[in-house]
Amino acid sequence: MEIENVAQYLKNNGIKPSYQRVRVFEYLINNKNHPTVDTVFKELVGEIPTLSKTTVYNTLKLFAKKNIIIVINIEDNETRYDADTSVHGHFKCEKCRKVYDFDVDLSKVDLKKISNFIINEYHFYLKGICEKCRE
Ligand SMILES: [Zn+2]
Ligand SMILES: [Zn+2]
Repeated sequence: MEIENVAQYLKNNGIKPSYQRVRVFEYLINNKNHPTVDTVFKELVGEIPTLSKTTVYNTLKLFAKKNIIIVINIEDNETRYDADTSVHGHFKCEKCRKVYDFDVDLSKVDLKKISNFIINEYHFYLKGICEKCRE
């Protein structure tokens, strides 16, 4: 995803583009590491000393509400965020705790049993040991 002007992008999605919001969103599109609130906070607080964890949390919550990021809840006690809103799956390595993306072909998912249901969100979660940690 290429976003020339993050502030304008936020505006187009009904979000007032404060400096902190712009930086948080930029962090998400530049780092495909599916960060937690803590990660985003730690990475940006050096540059924005007035930043608080609450601000990061509220900003990410707002982005999710406006559907410009997705919330990943692979673990009960760990929420991660992703600026890639296309349909894709997440694999979490139980050893290095890294979250990997994988492609999902929705046309190959058998939804016959819920064919009359309305689907609002897609989440595909897998857990295991990644290639690097297997070695
Ligand atoms: Zn691993
Ligand atoms: Zn992802």
